[in-house]
Amino acid sequence: MTRLEGFQRTRSHGNTLVGPPRLRPPGTHCRPRRVAMLSVHTSPLHQPGTGDAGGMNVYIVELAKRLAAIDIEVEIFTRATSAALPPSVELAPGVLVRHVAAGPYEGLAKENLPAYLCAFTHGVTQAWAGHRPGHYDLVHSHYWLSGHVGRLAAERWGVPLVHAMHTMARVKNASLAEGDTPEPAARVFGETQVVRDADRLIANTEKEAEELLRHYDADTGRVAVVHPGVNLERFRPDPSGIEAGRAAARSRLGLPQDALIPLFVGRIQPLKAPDVLLRAVARLLEERPRLRERIVVPVVGGPSGSGLAKPEGLQKLAACLGISDVVLFRPPVGQAQLADWYRAASVLVMPSHSESFGLVAVEAQACGTPVIAAEVGGLPVAVRDGVSGVLVPGHDPADYARALCGFAEDPARAARMSEAAVRHARSFGWAAAAAATADVYTAALNPRLPDLIS
Ligand code: UDP
Repeated sequence: MTRLEGFQRTRSHGNTLVGPPRLRPPGTHCRPRRVAMLSVHTSPLHQPGTGDAGGMNVYIVELAKRLAAIDIEVEIFTRATSAALPPSVELAPGVLVRHVAAGPYEGLAKENLPAYLCAFTHGVTQAWAGHRPGHYDLVHSHYWLSGHVGRLAAERWGVPLVHAMHTMARVKNASLAEGDTPEPAARVFGETQVVRDADRLIANTEKEAEELLRHYDADTGRVAVVHPGVNLERFRPDPSGIEAGRAAARSRLGLPQDALIPLFVGRIQPLKAPDVLLRAVARLLEERPRLRERIVVPVVGGPSGSGLAKPEGLQKLAACLGISDVVLFRPPVGQAQLADWYRAASVLVMPSHSESFGLVAVEAQACGTPVIAAEVGGLPVAVRDGVSGVLVPGHDPADYARALCGFAEDPARAARMSEAAVRHARSFGWAAAAAATADVYTAALNPRLPDLIS
């Protein structure tokens, strides 16, 4: 029996506060007016889909905008990666990005960042010192490196620390791709300290909450589950309908109208397993050689993490498998164009070894594209198995080839899944995620009052 059993389901949209049910007395609202958000290693202004920029960047941008829309100002502190950057940039009304000089601007790998956390903390506290006391009501840190800065800043300012792990070393190490490099012990140690000191921990899913308890001995009463959202204005089917929209997106992208298009989107690294998709395609073509005439496999994204050690690795694999002629490698694109890639695809394939949520799965569904995903991490929440897509246990390319074959052979089922995908994705709005996050803030600010979720 896990300690999560008996947790309280407190909101209709599925976000939950883990812990025993408690009641809120009337009139006890104390929401923050201004939050210091910390994103040390990657800027919300960076293009996601390569290097250190991915779902967390999108998460921070969307969450901050929606918090500002409900009158919670957000200042995001991130490390300056160029001398040319201004000290601060307004990202949206009520959302400011502050660039903190800490360490060399360029060429600093994430692994070497711990040495500069002191300098970063100094920059953050300097910004704070320039304001009246009480300028920030709360610190919200993202990823363990920011958690360390957050621990010190929150203690110094006498405010609560809310932390989101995004990924966890122990979870990643438990399901590494073959030959991939494990996360170092120093990260595990650092994460353990942050989990111990944070007033509230936000997990993407109940599974992640359970992992926090199991791998990091988190305090049940401090863990809240808030599902991330998807930008439903940007990611939506074409107004002309899913089928007509798919045809239009294909012609805009120069893709053949009648092709089977399994799409990969994301950072290219062993953890995301784009190799499994390529191996599955090679297998499918072995079994059905005539499909070669009408299959295109776009891979949208750039190298990241341990994938940087072999930036050409996937291209070489495609050549080795004899499928270079059907694979299209494309660099990361902005989200407006990404929506077109999703609309154009027959199916998005996400064979990840580990995934704390998997934003691209929900974005694709929001555009009317079903998903084939590995049954790991948050993907069983992001994808409704058999309804909006197919979950595959394990990483055997033969299983993914079979799932792809299903999409090639049964267009009626694919069309039903497309419709269901749009409906499923609609339950993941950022407004709901921001409201639930604000509730967690309130709970962190009012530790003596009952945990409140309205
Ligand atoms: N993304 C993007 N352009 C690209 C590829 C990806 O903007 O070319 C974004 C995508 O929209 C998604 C994020 O990068 O929001 C990836 O998030 P996900 O949770 O899938 O993976 P992570 O990067 O967090 O591992």
